[in-house]
Amino acid sequence: MSWPNVRASFVRGDHVRSSTFPGVALWFVETPAADCGHSAIGEYCECEPEPDTDAAVVVMVGDDVRHRVPAGSLTVLDEDDFCGGCGQIGCGHGG
Ligand SMILES: [Zn+2]
Ligand SMILES: [Zn+2]
Repeated sequence: MSWPNVRASFVRGDHVRSSTFPGVALWFVETPAADCGHSAIGEYCECEPEPDTDAAVVVMVGDDVRHRVPAGSLTVLDEDDFCGGCGQIGCGHGG
């Protein structure tokens, strides 16, 4: 099978890599909601959250900290391309 290396969108659980975190395997979590700016100034608001398609929320494999990265920095990561132990791309642990 041959996926194109770049996709317009990802689904939760996809393995991805980001130019923001070179050498680290990531999970795609979700497309975050765009910030309308109201909560930042403490204002009640009823804005419908729009997905911020320019951004993506990812976590590093083996970690649970959510990172917001530019969606355009993401590319598909093959299961075989990273270490399931430490989450590093190109790790020499093998197997
Ligand atoms: Zn708002
Ligand atoms: Zn490793």
